[in-house]
Amino acid sequence: MVDEGHAGINSTSLTWDWRNKYIEYLKNGKLPLDYKELRALRIKVARFTLDEDGTLYRRTFDGPLAVSLGPGDTYYVLGEIHEGTCGNHSSADSLICKIVRAGYYWDNMEKDIKEFIRKCDKCQRCSIEDVKKTPQHEDLSS
Ligand SMILES: [Zn+2]
Repeated sequence: MVDEGHAGINSTSLTWDWRNKYIEYLKNGKLPLDYKELRALRIKVARFTLDEDGTLYRRTFDGPLAVSLGPGDTYYVLGEIHEGTCGNHSSADSLICKIVRAGYYWDNMEKDIKEFIRKCDKCQRCSIEDVKKTPQHEDLSS
């Protein structure tokens, strides 16, 4: 018998968090065993910094540190920020910029944002073309 009370919990946030490998490395110097992952981590980790209280930040190209969000927080932030821009039927691109400017970052954020807009009814109706455009700014996933 499934406990109905737990149905709303996002299971991905409990099992996997992209921040863990960076936190493990910055905190304990722990490196991934997989060679490919190790190489990727070595390159990417230079952009990250760990706060005393364990919050992971990512340096952004135009200055301020961005709070790194885990899988459980991204949907809320997307909703909050998109709420204000949805009326304008803004593109995925401008939503990405808004989120970066608000000081948030997470792995694969471009993909998530595009998907979020794809699922937004209002955006769907007005800016199908915008969703298809390729972003012109810095590749956030690298
Ligand atoms: Zn929308």
